[in-house]
Amino acid sequence: MKAMSFPSRQEAVRAWQHLLKVLPVAPDAYAASGRLPLAALALLLAGVPLGALASAIAGTVVLLLTLAVAWPFAWLTGVVMDWWVIPKILPLAVAAIYAAGVIAVGASLGFAASMVIAALGRKGHNRSPATAATLAACAAVLGTGLFAAAVLRFSGSRDEAALMFGGVALAIAGLIALVAAFAGAADSVRTARYCETCHRYLETRDLGSLPLDSATMLRDALLARRLDAVSQVLQQPGDGLQLSLDTCGSCGRAVLDGKVTGEARFPEAGKERRDRRTWRFLSTWLEAADARVVAQVRTDRFGA
Ligand SMILES: [Zn+2]
Repeated sequence: MKAMSFPSRQEAVRAWQHLLKVLPVAPDAYAASGRLPLAALALLLAGVPLGALASAIAGTVVLLLTLAVAWPFAWLTGVVMDWWVIPKILPLAVAAIYAAGVIAVGASLGFAASMVIAALGRKGHNRSPATAATLAACAAVLGTGLFAAAVLRFSGSRDEAALMFGGVALAIAGLIALVAAFAGAADSVRTARYCETCHRYLETRDLGSLPLDSATMLRDALLARRLDAVSQVLQQPGDGLQLSLDTCGSCGRAVLDGKVTGEARFPEAGKERRDRRTWRFLSTWLEAADARVVAQVRTDRFGA
């Protein structure tokens, strides 16, 4: 990470904008193929009830935690209601904890469902983000239903206002769960890079960092397939462009990624503020021979 100091926030933002123009965001060289092997489909379908169960359990645990945190405040509200100033703040604290709880319950319902689907999909070598996302969303909806049934069963509340509040809270949590499960499961497939020829997941290796001002030189040398120039650039010590290589253990083809990482520091309201940013500037497939050279140069030079 390269740290740079600026006299003000405006100057820092301007510098970021300039850097983004010089080193623009590159699309990911890897794209999931969408292939869905039969074994993966079977595992994913089995993952729907499993994910629903995990989702309901996770939601229940987070709900109990929320109630445990809110309880002392709710109890105090009743005790000091009539004779102190604090009661005005206490109900607000309770409401804030409940609101945070609804979001946390929703996120946990969705996250647990997507974790189960992601793990089973990986086992079956699923390469379809859409299938994983759809089935994780199904698991999250089922899990939210299970969770609601359990809460209704154990709370035993028949109070109309409480049921109404619970219904609204559940609808919000359910929506968060749905979105979280859908996005999480799709992302788990897209980010797990895979060699479609060898049916293997790629292995990630950190190659250290390069100086930022060598970034465009490296990209142009790679695009022109000039390996001698690539090797030259890779010799430079420096900071600001983080390199990593995802390699197939069988055929040796690899994806080389370069991420710009930086931190802008500037004073504001008497304090030093930090604005960290990271984006992908470079992402390209390398043939096995080229990937070997790239890895070798970095190992020889820096022991990466
Ligand atoms: Zn391969």
